[in-house]
Amino acid sequence: MLIVVSGPGGVGKGTIAELLVERHEKLWLSKSWTTRPRRETENEEAYVFVNRKEFQEAIEAGVFLEWAEFHGNYYATPWPDPPEGYDVLLEIDVQGAKSVTKQGLECLMIFVDAPTIEDQADRLRGRGDDEEEVLLRIREGERERNDARELGAIFVINDDLDRAVSEISSIIYSNPTKE
Ligand code: ADP
Ligand code: 5GP
Repeated sequence: MLIVVSGPGGVGKGTIAELLVERHEKLWLSKSWTTRPRRETENEEAYVFVNRKEFQEAIEAGVFLEWAEFHGNYYATPWPDPPEGYDVLLEIDVQGAKSVTKQGLECLMIFVDAPTIEDQADRLRGRGDDEEEVLLRIREGERERNDARELGAIFVINDDLDRAVSEISSIIYSNPTKE
């Protein structure tokens, strides 16, 4: 099974994706590539951090299932290579989700959102995004919500983190716990 979690920047989808793979043994989280510099608050393992030349070479070598530009940086999902028997979780933006469906891949599409735009802005500021990035991500969020509706994504509000993770777990497995 292929599960795509998307949503506007700062709503908590990265945090949710990490918790989902902790909770479900047979769920494999794809690691994206990016040309964006690593944030100070960010783990070295958050992405495969590369320069533009390396990114371009990987496009030419057919490494990616999809790639997209976002605010001047490039992001890509490599073709998934999970261990046998694992479901694949992609945490990507809506453009990427569109590409996945255009490729004819069947997937469960989940769109995570914050309870309000103010919550989204507070979360972005809390993680250290500057005001320009906060505004861009909020503006982009409007378009992403519309695109997600058109894609038929299932909307999940990340109000309380644990509750949202349980809701997504039950959507995926009809069972909120690992056991
Ligand atoms: P995204 O991957 O959607 O850009 P992140 O996972 O980086 O978002 O989360 C943005 C910030 O919001 C992080 O600091 C994270 O700890 C925080 N966060 C995530 N979920 C919640 C929640 N339910 N309530 C409050 N803060 C949250
Ligand atoms: P950030 O810079 O905040 O980590 O991510 C910016 C945006 O890029 C987010 O909306 C995130 O979901 C998206 N993103 C992360 N990885 C990928 C990917 O592999 N492909 C695509 N299309 N978008 C991605």
